[in-house]
Amino acid sequence: DTKRALNFIEHIIEDDLGNSHTKDDLRFRFPPEPNGFLHVGHASSICLNFGLGERYKAPVNLRFDDTNPAKEEKEFVEAIKRDVEWLGFKWDKECYASDYFQQLFDWAVELIKAGKAYVDSQSSEEIAKQKGTPTDPGSNSPFRNRSVEENMGLFMQMKNGDFEEGEHVLRAKIDMASSNMLMRDPIIYRVVKSAHHRTGNDWCIYPMYDWTHGQSDYIEQVSHSLCTLEFLPHRELYDWFLDQLYEESKLRPKQREFARRNLSHTVVSKRKLLRLVEEGVVTGWDDPRMPTISGMRRRGYPPAAIRNFADTVGIAKRENLVDVSLLEFHVREELNKTSPRIMAVLNPLKVVITNYPDGHEEWLDAENNPEDETAGFRKVPFGRELYIEQDDFKEQANRKFFRLKLGGEVRLKNGYIIKAESCTKDKDGNVVEVQCTYDEKSRSGSGTEESLRKVKGTLHWVSVKHAYEIEVRVYDRLFKDENPDGHKDVDFMEFVNENSLTIIKGLVEPSVKEAKVGDKFQFQRLGYFNVDEDSIEGNLVFNRTAPLRDSWAK
Ligand code: ATP
Ligand code: MG
Ligand code: MG
Repeated sequence: DTKRALNFIEHIIEDDLGNSHTKDDLRFRFPPEPNGFLHVGHASSICLNFGLGERYKAPVNLRFDDTNPAKEEKEFVEAIKRDVEWLGFKWDKECYASDYFQQLFDWAVELIKAGKAYVDSQSSEEIAKQKGTPTDPGSNSPFRNRSVEENMGLFMQMKNGDFEEGEHVLRAKIDMASSNMLMRDPIIYRVVKSAHHRTGNDWCIYPMYDWTHGQSDYIEQVSHSLCTLEFLPHRELYDWFLDQLYEESKLRPKQREFARRNLSHTVVSKRKLLRLVEEGVVTGWDDPRMPTISGMRRRGYPPAAIRNFADTVGIAKRENLVDVSLLEFHVREELNKTSPRIMAVLNPLKVVITNYPDGHEEWLDAENNPEDETAGFRKVPFGRELYIEQDDFKEQANRKFFRLKLGGEVRLKNGYIIKAESCTKDKDGNVVEVQCTYDEKSRSGSGTEESLRKVKGTLHWVSVKHAYEIEVRVYDRLFKDENPDGHKDVDFMEFVNENSLTIIKGLVEPSVKEAKVGDKFQFQRLGYFNVDEDSIEGNLVFNRTAPLRDSWAK
């Protein structure tokens, strides 16, 4: 949406376009680390970066920040690509920080030669001890003044695999007294003896995040490198590294920060999502209750809903908690426009129409989507025996109960007006069948006076003879607390809602039999549902994507 007010990042870009940059200079990137699946927080970063690409007709790179061989896998690379595409975005170049390992190494050698990096041979504990505190300066490493020759020799040996992990690191020589802790001689290389998903065993030293990220931006000539607020203190280091290598003829990338997207009733951190998977709270990263992009896809959330949600929330300079019901609102809004209506009964109660001819059936016209003129009509079978929802019948009820009660009338959607005459109960007093009569002239759409007669309630229903059984997975929120991650002394796992999944049987009209994995429907009066990939021949499984209304009591 190009009409809304500019956000603060767009203001920065507009300023740059008025001064230092031309439109052709603009380039953005989305830089996931392939160590897990993307979640709704990443979705906002994707929408931000690719949204800028669309607004300024500028390229956006997909860059895998793959500098940590121990935690990263190819499987995640593929899943991330799929998720970004599914959200509806196209990247310009597919890049990997690992493609820059040689260049990063060469630049590190230049730093050493310029006396701006040294090999430290202390343990990580010793290095940590000398870091100081934010109010006290750190102290210099005894190895800080090694000669260039000695540093070069040791760094080559590190590269050649002559040392074990932790024996030596390469540090930038900046300022152990800096008020910014990150400037106190940060480590830029460490020995890691693990195979990398792309470079195999070519390297046994790996660059650290800070040494990699800005230089990757520089190599790709990214103009605006947007990251979340926790990287604000890294900006000084980002700039220091660029100062060492920047050439005038090139574009100089800028790091700018925005607030993380936090969503209520869930957690958005790969590490925490991993715990949900590993501790068996959910069935996997793509469990429909997960706030991962793959989970939301499987749940039936349309990509447009996620994009609209990200647009509506926008980006902020301060962290805040966005209510998940806003995401659900966008999901419903999108599904209302796009999903065909069908009738399904989830808690069946049998209705017998005593004056309907025995053995007779007819196929009624039903509109597929009143919100979409092109969606057309389908046929729905009607007969003497039907199911309605148990909730839709009461023997006795007050005037405000616009459903079926003894002596009262309702319209059956797409069908006739019926009147409840009597009911049968089991020995516990539960109603097991309702006997009704119907007004045979009242069929919807038949044009008769009776067909236009108004009655207070309209119920959905399914013909007993034609009902098709399905499995329905009804989801509730995964956490009972609005902000499970926001409690100082309580682990977020304590707030898991142990009733977040209820599996029931449902009965649907026969048109649904042919539904395919991913197909989305509105079950009339009940909510939005989609076909889950667990479906097999003869057992269609539906996920409840969202109820029709926000039924969550606050
Ligand atoms: P996590 O904490 O879940 O592991 P991360 O930031 O370590 O997330 P990356 O793969 O490094 O994960 O993230 C890729 C990009 O997505 C980064 O630019 C990061 O800042 C951004 N991002 C991650 N989480 C969020 C969030 N909750 N809101 C907005 N952007 C996010
Ligand atoms: Mg990260
Ligand atoms: Mg992380």
